[in-house]
Amino acid sequence: MYLISGCLLGHNCKYNGGNNYNQDVIDFAACHSCFSVCPEGISGLPTPRPPAEYVGDRVIDKEGRDVTEYFVGGAEASLTAALAEAEKRGETIEGAILKANSPSCGSGQIYDGTFSGTLIRGNGCFTKLLLDQDIKVISEKEIENVKF
Ligand code: SF4
Repeated sequence: MYLISGCLLGHNCKYNGGNNYNQDVIDFAACHSCFSVCPEGISGLPTPRPPAEYVGDRVIDKEGRDVTEYFVGGAEASLTAALAEAEKRGETIEGAILKANSPSCGSGQIYDGTFSGTLIRGNGCFTKLLLDQDIKVISEKEIENVKF
């Protein structure tokens, strides 16, 4: 079973109430066992919500509010839900395709905390949790080149 960022599947769970529909991800999901996740969507934060970025080891939204606990809680709840679903299906989690650059779902690069679109090396909160579990994470940008 593969975990997929819900916004890539067209779910309107993005901070601004929109989505990040991606046809390559949709095509992948059509022929693999997949489970949609949105850590921020189940964190208790509303949708729409202010954008947030990592500043050091904290997640701060554009209004200056520290939302780290929401992000950590949403990531943990998403992993718990995914593990339960995998067990129900009698499958294991093979990997995850998560939205690039997000403070939750980004892998390898995230925004730098200045809300200027500048990227730095790093992983989102949910990605970190998956990597700790030895679950491979790629972004939608790598989907054509990476085999799980
Ligand atoms: S990037 Fe991740 S947390 Fe953000 S809307 Fe998409 S699935 Fe939800």
